Amino acid sequence: MRLEKIFYKGLELHHYANTAYPLKPTSFREYRVKENDKIENLLNESWKKVKEMTLYVHIPFCEKRCKFCEYVVVSNDDKLKENEYVDLLLKEIDFYGNIIDKKNIVGYDMGGGTPLYLLENNLERITNKMFKRFDFDSNKGLSIETTPVIAANNYEKLKSVHDLGYKRISMGIQTINKKLLDSFERKGSIKIDKTATENIKKAGYKRLNIDIMYGFLHQSEVNFKSTVLFAIDLQPEYISLYRNRYKGTKLEYQAKDVELSKVNLQYSIAYNLLNDNGFVANIGKNTFSRIKNDYGTSEYLTKRVIEGTAYLGLGLGAQSYGHNYLSYNEGAEVIVVSGFTP
Ligand code: SF4
Repeated sequence: MRLEKIFYKGLELHHYANTAYPLKPTSFREYRVKENDKIENLLNESWKKVKEMTLYVHIPFCEKRCKFCEYVVVSNDDKLKENEYVDLLLKEIDFYGNIIDKKNIVGYDMGGGTPLYLLENNLERITNKMFKRFDFDSNKGLSIETTPVIAANNYEKLKSVHDLGYKRISMGIQTINKKLLDSFERKGSIKIDKTATENIKKAGYKRLNIDIMYGFLHQSEVNFKSTVLFAIDLQPEYISLYRNRYKGTKLEYQAKDVELSKVNLQYSIAYNLLNDNGFVANIGKNTFSRIKNDYGTSEYLTKRVIEGTAYLGLGLGAQSYGHNYLSYNEGAEVIVVSGFTP
C-alpha cells in the first residue's frame, strides 16, 4: 500500500489508528511463553538486570461499567468476589516479591477500575503488602484513583487511604453535562464533583488530577468548554484530557459518525483555555500541570512513558516491562476472577 494511502486510511479510521493504552494483549499472543519453569527463569534473569523500576496494581472493580470504558473492569455486585481477588493479588505480590529484590522503586500507582471502590480493609491489606515486599518509602510518589461519587460520599476512606501513603489522587469528572453522563450510565453531578474535590483537599492530598473527556458524538463545543472551565475552577494541580477511543466500548457503533475535525477542535479549545489559566502540557502529552517543572503525570507514569523505566504490573489485565520482555496478565472485558492465577 502506498504511504499516502496509508496516511488517508489512518485519517478515515482515526478512532482505530490512535495508540491504545493499555495495548491489547491479543497482539502478542504468538510470542506467549506458556511453560511455568520457563516463565520463572525468564523473570529471574530479566529482573536481575534491572536497577530502577516502578510498580502498578490493577483493581478491576467499579460500581457499574461506564459505556465509554475500555479498561479491564468486572462489575462488582458481590463483595465476596472482591475479597477473593485481593487474596489472589496478595499471592501475586508475594510471588514477585521473591523474584524482585533490592530495587530502587521510583513510583507506584494503584489504578483500575476504581481502587477506592474497594473496602478500606482491602486497600490497607494491599498497600501494606506492597510496602512489605518492595523496598520503597511512602514519599516516593504513591498515586491512586477514585470517582467523584466515592470521594464525595466517603471522606473517612479518603483520609485513611491518604494516611496509608497516597499523596496524589486522580479523579475523572469526564463531563459536567448531565444528559451525557446519564447516557453513559455514569453517576455524577456538579455538586458531587465539588464535594469530592473539597473532601480530597481536606483529606490532605497534595496533588489532585482531574480527568475530562472529549470526542463524544453528542458533545457540543459549548458543553465541552463548560466542562473545561468547571475543571479549572476546581483548582486541581493537574487536568488530563482523554479522547474517547470508542474501540472495544459500548459506544463503538458511534465512532463512524465522529469527525476528526470535531475532535481536533475540542482539543484546541481545551488547550487554549488551559494555557490561558496557567495549566501547561509538554508537547504531545495530555496532562496539563499548573505546577512548575512538574509533568503532572504520576511518578509511575512519568518513568514508564517518558523515561522508559522498567515496570511491574500486578493484578488482572496489568502489563509489565522487564529488562527484555513485555508481559500481560490475563484480562478481558468479561472475566471470571477465580480463573486468575498468579
Ligand atoms: S469508573 Fe472508570 S474504570 Fe470504572 S467503568 Fe467507568 S470509566 Fe471504566
